[in-house]
Amino acid sequence: MYIEERDTIAAIATGMGNSGIGIVRISGPLSISVADKLFRGRKKVNEMNTYTAAYGHVVDREGEVIDETVLLLMKGPHTYTTEDTVELDCHGGSYVLKKVLERVVECGARLAEPGEFTKRAFLGGRIDMSEAEAVMDVINAESDMALRNSLGQLKGDLREKIISLREKIIYETAFIESALDDPENYSLDGYKEKLTIIVDNLLESVDSMMTTCENGRLIKEGIRTAIVGRPNVGKSSILNMMLGETRAIVTDIEGTTRDTLEETASIGGIILRLIDTAGIRDTVDTVEKIGVDKARENIGSADLILFIVDGASEVKDDDLAIINELHGKKVIALINKEDLPQKIDMDKLESELSNVGCTDIISISAVEETGKELLYDRIRELFFKGEIKVTDQIIITNERHKEALEMARISLNRVKESIADDMGEDFYTIDLMAAYESLGRIIGETLEDDLADKIFREFCMGK
Ligand code: GDP
Repeated sequence: MYIEERDTIAAIATGMGNSGIGIVRISGPLSISVADKLFRGRKKVNEMNTYTAAYGHVVDREGEVIDETVLLLMKGPHTYTTEDTVELDCHGGSYVLKKVLERVVECGARLAEPGEFTKRAFLGGRIDMSEAEAVMDVINAESDMALRNSLGQLKGDLREKIISLREKIIYETAFIESALDDPENYSLDGYKEKLTIIVDNLLESVDSMMTTCENGRLIKEGIRTAIVGRPNVGKSSILNMMLGETRAIVTDIEGTTRDTLEETASIGGIILRLIDTAGIRDTVDTVEKIGVDKARENIGSADLILFIVDGASEVKDDDLAIINELHGKKVIALINKEDLPQKIDMDKLESELSNVGCTDIISISAVEETGKELLYDRIRELFFKGEIKVTDQIIITNERHKEALEMARISLNRVKESIADDMGEDFYTIDLMAAYESLGRIIGETLEDDLADKIFREFCMGK
C-alpha cells in the first residue's frame, strides 16, 4: 500500500462551547515528542505504556501552567487514525482549550483540517470511504433513524454489500480475460446466457439500493413540509403544536448556519423540515404573506403538504384556490378546530380534495392537541410505509454513493447491450470494470491491484 510521509496534526476534539471537559487531540509520528515538550507529569510520555493515562499539567515555554490535564496515550496502529495519538483532557473552557492547542502547535504539530483525523483512519486502511462518511453522518445525525442508519454504515453494512457485488463483477471479468488469453482451457460457450443472468442480478441489487435513496434523503435531511392554508385556519397554532414536542432541539439549532426560515420538528424518530415558518408566524402582514400566493410558492419545493382548513367555518374560495395547487403532491388535509362546533361541508371538501388526488383527511385541534398522533402515524406511513426500523436495510443517504450507483447501473446496462448486439467479450469487460470502479468509489478502493491479484491467484498461476 502507498504510504505517504505524514506530519502531526492537532485539533480541539470537543465542541467549542464551555463545558466540563474539552479534549485536544494530537495524531501523527511526532505526537509523543510534542506531548513531552508541553506536558509535566510523573513520567515522560515516551516512557508511558500505550492505552494508559497520566495526570499532570500543560505548561508554556517558561514552564508556567496553562491547564491541569489528564493525558491519554494511544500508540499506533490500534488507534482511530492508526497513528500515535495523544489526547489531552483539559478543562472545557474555550479560552483555555485554545491556549492548549496553540501550545501544541508551538511544539511542532499543525492544525488539523476538518475531517482530517477520519481521513487518516481511511488512509491508514482502518476504515473505508463509506465508513468515513458514516462517521460524519453519525456526528450530524438529527434523528434516531438517521443515527441508526449511519451506525449501520459505520459497522460496514454498506461496505460488505458493495464488496460482494464487486467480487461477483471481478470474478466474471477475470474469467473473460483468462478465456481470451487461454481459450484452450477456458470455454466461453454458453457464457453469454450465464453473464446475462448475473448482470440482471447485479442490476437488481443496484436498483434496490437506488430505491432507498429517496428515503435516505428524507431520513438524513428530513421531510420538507409546507403548512399551507388561508389566514386564520390555525397554521401557526399547528406549527407550535408540532414544535412543542421538540422545543429543545429547535433551540439547539438556532443560531447555526441553518436557513433561518426553516424550523425542525422531530416526531417519532423522523424529522420534518418546516418550510417558511417565518412567513407563517409573521402576523403583521398576515393576509398578504400567507395567502394563496405564498402557499403556491411553498408547495413547489415540499415533500409533504399539510393543508389546513378551518372546520368551524364554511369552505371558502381561498381554500378552493389552494386546493387547486395541490395536484400531484403528497398532501394531508387537516380539518382544524375540531373542538368547536363544525360548520364545514365535508362532502364538498372531500370531493374537491379527491379531484386533486388527496384522500388523507384528519380532524385535529391545535388548541386541545387532539388528532396529532393520527397525523404523525399517517406521515410515517406515507413516507416510510409505517416501517421505521432501518437496522437491517442498507439505506443510501449519500449523494456521492447515489451517483456512483447510477454510474454502475449505466455500465451494467451497457454490458447487457453488448451481449444483445453480439459484441466481442472484451467489450463486456470494459463495462464490467467500469461498474466495478464506480462501486469501488463508494468505498474508496483502487482498481488495478485487485484485478491483477484476482487473475493471478484464481485463474492462471495455480492451475
Ligand atoms: P394562521 O393565521 O393560519 O396561522 O392561524 P392561527 O394559528 O394564528 O390561528 C388563528 C386563530 O384560530 C387564533 O385565534 C387561534 O387561537 C385559533 N385556533 C387555532 N387553532 C385552533 C383550534 O384548534 N381550536 C380553536 N378553538 N381555536 C384555534
